[in-house]
Amino acid sequence: MARDPRYDILFEPVKIGPVTAKNRFYQVPHCNGQGYRDPSAVAKMRGNKAAGGWGVLCTEQAEIHHTSEITPFIELRLWDDRDIPQLQKMSDAIHAENALAGIELAYNGPNGSNLYTREVPLGPSHLPIATFYYDPVQARAMDLSDIRNLRRWHKNAAIRAKRAGFDIIYVYAAHGFSVIQHFLSRRYNTRTDEYGGSLENRMRLLREITEDTKDAVGDTAAVAVRIAVDELMGESGLHKAEVEDIIGRMAETPDLWDVTLSDWSNDSRTSRFTEEAAEEEFVRGIKKLTTKPVVGVGRFTSPDLMVRQVKSGILDLIGAARPSIADPFLPNKINEGRIDDIRECIGCNICVSGDMTMSPSRCTQNPAMGEEWRKGWHPEFIRLRESDARVLVVGGGPAGLEAARALGQRGYDVALAEAGTELGGRVARECRLPTLSAWGRVRDWRVGQINKMANVSVYLDSKLDADQVLEFGFEHVVVATGSNWRRDGVAHFHLAAMPNTGMPVLTPDDLMAGTKPKGKRVVLFDDDHYYMGGICAELLVKAGHQVTFVTPATEVSTWTRNTLEQDKIQAKLINMGVEIIVSHAVASAEAGGVALACTFTGRTMTLACDDLVLVTARLPQDHLYLDLKARESDWGDIKSVRGIGDCWAPSTIAAAVYAGRRYAEEFDAPDIGDAVPFKRELAELLP
Ligand code: ADP
Ligand code: SF4
Repeated sequence: MARDPRYDILFEPVKIGPVTAKNRFYQVPHCNGQGYRDPSAVAKMRGNKAAGGWGVLCTEQAEIHHTSEITPFIELRLWDDRDIPQLQKMSDAIHAENALAGIELAYNGPNGSNLYTREVPLGPSHLPIATFYYDPVQARAMDLSDIRNLRRWHKNAAIRAKRAGFDIIYVYAAHGFSVIQHFLSRRYNTRTDEYGGSLENRMRLLREITEDTKDAVGDTAAVAVRIAVDELMGESGLHKAEVEDIIGRMAETPDLWDVTLSDWSNDSRTSRFTEEAAEEEFVRGIKKLTTKPVVGVGRFTSPDLMVRQVKSGILDLIGAARPSIADPFLPNKINEGRIDDIRECIGCNICVSGDMTMSPSRCTQNPAMGEEWRKGWHPEFIRLRESDARVLVVGGGPAGLEAARALGQRGYDVALAEAGTELGGRVARECRLPTLSAWGRVRDWRVGQINKMANVSVYLDSKLDADQVLEFGFEHVVVATGSNWRRDGVAHFHLAAMPNTGMPVLTPDDLMAGTKPKGKRVVLFDDDHYYMGGICAELLVKAGHQVTFVTPATEVSTWTRNTLEQDKIQAKLINMGVEIIVSHAVASAEAGGVALACTFTGRTMTLACDDLVLVTARLPQDHLYLDLKARESDWGDIKSVRGIGDCWAPSTIAAAVYAGRRYAEEFDAPDIGDAVPFKRELAELLP
């Protein structure tokens, strides 16, 4: 198919200083939890995206010097020449696809405790380290010789970056991850010398380092400044008017302005909190301050919105991190007129959780993310079938849909049987909850792909039992029948059923099915700690209930720290009038009330309520799988029965999609026995 001419503008080249991007699709720097530990994996991941049509591919942050590192997080390092080959591998992979390679040089300063190197962190002022943890570490206020050193380190890193093949070299002043931003900030910079006080003084370091970088590498490499336009904290933080003043004063110094919100949680807001293009109000007007190109993000997946950004003079380059993770081939799909094939990011930040947990980023929509090199999975392609085997997939949730889709793409004959009258399983249910509508894209993309496949048949309203499966006679059966939320309180706190004499209990399944609490006063016990507790509380408040949220953790939805949402969720619940009781569990329940136990002392208190909502663990719905396994003697032509996704072990939607893809990838593959099922790089041993 041909490209829609409306989108031609997205494919115009853009000159960035001495280099030219072939189009406006710009993968901004993004972390991925692999970094220096898995260099070939990162190189392959970025190379695949370059093959998918992005004009520019940037690294995650690359630490420029050993005196500032952010252990335990795993990013890139450019501490000395020995780091060059790893980075060269990435720029080579990007250049092989005719794209530009950018590198985000970073000196975290007060954002890193230097737990690995044990160096004393440096910052504009004597202040505690401002990272995700309350490390008992302080940064030392830099003197003028420290500033001279930092300028030299940055310059040397820029030269190394150029030697490693990079075309765009960043000066980073964003996300709270850069000492240059801390110097800009009135909160962090309380200096009284020429680097503190007035705006001109606070931006002196940014100006000097940008000029140093231009001098060092600017003849052949572009120099980008990535700057925090707003910290979303009003006058007390960096805000748009002040940063516009900075950009105005340095308008023509860099070759590119990369504009972001700060901190990271504001730049990578989830779809629970913002729509696509939510950054627009902060970025509008910046282009008027400079003739240099401007790149910015907005979780862009709609080509029409992208075109509007360019035509209305907001951005020159369409920045994307998450949309490029969910669909590395997004630009090619627009170019080829295949808009329906775009696998849109759902804005869940599971990718971020990889970085936050120092594990390879995974993606709810793109199960190949992080597996490109180590398992050889491709975000778009999968090897063709190796037999005429026919496969029955039971259950049309994310696991079953992805298994059916990927097997179908391989060319197998697949039947997908779903008990309900719609596809999507938990995704179909959950995307009807407040703020989760974008999650429906997990179903929509897969159903859209399956509908194009003549070799995949879908049967709705088809609840199968073991007799029926045995009758069908498919050679391979994959059971993806999901899970149910428990109603006995078992999770982290209660490992056996919670005592309950007469308190009505509801689960998220009940609420999603439309069942309402009987009374007004509802206690919600969240021992799941991800999104469901907060969402159910919101649902209940909207339905007019008075909600008390009880959690054994020290904050609500504590795991959502990993998706950068925790503070936003807790603020929202407080603002909605939810009473929050932390560090307590519902120890027992009876008609009319519950007993709460303090998780530290065990002391109990009672709380009157009409209903109890339990957001605790889930149980696999694996009866069909177990029945089939128990009847192996009746299998006849059936060669294999496997359980995948939540019916095997309840987990995230991302894990269910991954399980579906894994089933399809491993189907007809040689048995590798006990071998590690992926490649890994081992450290070089030195004497
Ligand atoms: P997962 O996250 O593992 O994909 P879900 O709970 O989202 O699991 O989806 C499971 C799907 O399986 C649901 O749509 C459910 O209706 C369907 N299902 C459950 N039992 C059967 C069955 N016996 N036959 C057909 N479909 C089933
Ligand atoms: Fe988007 Fe979620 Fe994938 Fe991240 S994990 S890229 S937010 S779909």
